[in-house]
Amino acid sequence: MSKTILVTGANSFIGTWIVQDLLEKGYSVRGTVRSQAKEAQVLDGVSKDYHSRISFVHINDITTDSFDEAVKGVHGIIHVASPFHFNVTDPEKDLILPAINGTLGVLKAAHAYNQNNDNTIKRVVITSSFASIFDPSKGLRPGYSYTEKDWSPVTYEQGAAAKNEPMTAYRASKVCAERAAWDFIDKEKPSFTIATICEPLVFGPRAGGFRSLDDINTSNASVRGLVTSGKDAPMLETRVPFQVDVRDVAHTHTAALERSTDTSERYLIAGGTWSFQEIADLVHSSTVIPDNIKNTTPVGIKGQSLPDHYEIDSSKAQKDLGITYIPLKKTMEDLIVQLADLQTMLEQS
Ligand code: NDP
Repeated sequence: MSKTILVTGANSFIGTWIVQDLLEKGYSVRGTVRSQAKEAQVLDGVSKDYHSRISFVHINDITTDSFDEAVKGVHGIIHVASPFHFNVTDPEKDLILPAINGTLGVLKAAHAYNQNNDNTIKRVVITSSFASIFDPSKGLRPGYSYTEKDWSPVTYEQGAAAKNEPMTAYRASKVCAERAAWDFIDKEKPSFTIATICEPLVFGPRAGGFRSLDDINTSNASVRGLVTSGKDAPMLETRVPFQVDVRDVAHTHTAALERSTDTSERYLIAGGTWSFQEIADLVHSSTVIPDNIKNTTPVGIKGQSLPDHYEIDSSKAQKDLGITYIPLKKTMEDLIVQLADLQTMLEQS
């Protein structure tokens, strides 16, 4: 019988690609989603041939709900669920507590299960973020190269106070959740190891395509914002100049799950640099992106590059996990063709 892996937030942009990758590798997947309605978002993203190897557990709110049922009988866990949006009225309730409690809830349930069941859970992979590494107070920091040794100095208190700065609140949610995971490992010394994956902005197509605007997650929404803003619209400001393709993020998670090691590891990944101007240039020179998108994408100043900025050193993930990266052109063409199809669907409805 194939091994079962629990994927939390299985319907998320990143989660659906992880589910697909695991199924292709022969695993069975148990996905957590909030409700039955969200199951379709996962099933739509994977071949029907695999549906018999997917099951679901409903966890409506990771802030408060138990993962005890979800972890029963699984061999590994990939914890993806965490809020990534900027509709924030209460930063603690909306972003920070779900991130921390969700991570601790998964780890506590896995630890308790292992203690009574022969340590069947071997590894827990956690989707962290470059937000937990990057120090926003240092700005573009030319000449500096971020590695897994860096930690964002953003605190719980700064995040909780950031009612009008949802990006700060989000950064706090990710750094506090990842720190909570490492503290748990230090104090509880569970029999499983963990791997945290720190990625910058993740772009790319949605597994199964977009059925409605609700299917577009926060990072891809910024690309849609650009390519629907109008030919003469001002160019958007690029704040974090690194990106990675969602399919590479999925492979990194499954490779980190499978890596046979007795140590817990932190991995920083990045496919390369990007800017809104670079995306606009790609759109206008592309032979696959249709005219309905070209006509609503600003031209900006063709070829204009970003000011000098920091680097991201992702050599550890390349060495340990064999990660290679999809070029930005393919990431954007695959995403924007899906966005063009959605635009056509919206215009016709
Ligand atoms: P999505 O918005 O697509 O996914 C978020 C997932 O978390 C959804 O499944 C969502 O469920 C679930 N979720 C959020 N809050 C709760 C809650 N309180 N209770 C239960 N489930 C909840 O975003 P992404 O796929 O982009 O993000 C997935 C992970 O990747 C997150 O941990 C995010 O921080 C991380 N990440 C993303 C990056 C990016 O650029 N996209 C960059 C770096 C890290 P539902 O759909 O039902 O709301």
